[in-house]
Amino acid sequence: MAAETISTSPLVLMYHGVPRGGRAQAINGRAFERHVLFLKRNCTLIRPEQYASARGSLRHPAVLLTFDDGFRNLAEVAAPILRRYDVPAVFFVSSRHCTPGKYLWFSYLKMLGACFPGEGVTLNGKLVRLKGTERRTGIQQLTSMLLALAPHPHAMYAAIDAQLPPLESFVSEAVLADECAGMTEDQVRELGQDPLFTIGGHTLDHPYLTRCSAKEAERQISENKTWLERVTRRTCDLFAYPLADFDRNTVEQCRRVRFKQAFGVGRNGVSQFAIRRVGIYSASLTVLGAKLLCRHYLPTQLIAPWKQGYEPALYGAS
Ligand SMILES: [Zn+2]
Repeated sequence: MAAETISTSPLVLMYHGVPRGGRAQAINGRAFERHVLFLKRNCTLIRPEQYASARGSLRHPAVLLTFDDGFRNLAEVAAPILRRYDVPAVFFVSSRHCTPGKYLWFSYLKMLGACFPGEGVTLNGKLVRLKGTERRTGIQQLTSMLLALAPHPHAMYAAIDAQLPPLESFVSEAVLADECAGMTEDQVRELGQDPLFTIGGHTLDHPYLTRCSAKEAERQISENKTWLERVTRRTCDLFAYPLADFDRNTVEQCRRVRFKQAFGVGRNGVSQFAIRRVGIYSASLTVLGAKLLCRHYLPTQLIAPWKQGYEPALYGAS
């Protein structure tokens, strides 16, 4: 059977931030516009409501674009490009960094790795070396130490605030706004009320949900949903698991608060509460084309490198 006649279910692509510049991220505004033009030519770009019924072919797949985390650059850089080419998209927004001056934990670690001028930091009395070639392993070590603090995620955020150098002390205001800040409440409302776009839940603080107590996981999911619905004045039906981390309890909690679909990454499954996505981390159109063609069948380490034991902060895989 010819490739163009084989019917395929929609492919869901997952992007993160799209900064104007991009010190720590591969896909900036110019690269993203090239992606959109490539996708317009080679795919049928669908809305989330079409996910269950849309069909494509191997040569011309149906594709849903999703963007995780709710960075301000998505409202200021990605959304204008999507509007220019009339491309629908879903934005999954974490509440925490929508408060000015607050940042998600992995944004902190990414910038510490990319911009910190010092040779080390101290956490709970332990020196973590960040000098030269030690930086990569140092950031991995610090990430593991922070994620091990209980209760998750409060103890992790408290330790960053109390013991580690503030982001503002080593990252310029312009870079913070372009790469780390979350959308303002007005931007969340504006995107939520644009018929081209859909806002979905992504928790309050972007924790690993399976590391949270049951009560905390429920609070992370439901209070984020309530906030998004208040701000957008729309029902919030979609959810993306931060870091694609979920289990049976998490799925149950999402059902209980009446999400209709939830998205993971890679080989999570195919149910409406474990919809697979393919993460896009490279500006290269060749890589994008290969991911469209290979769908979910590329080796896991290319789709979701942190599943191989790396931490997400180094790769922007969140
Ligand atoms: Zn995320």
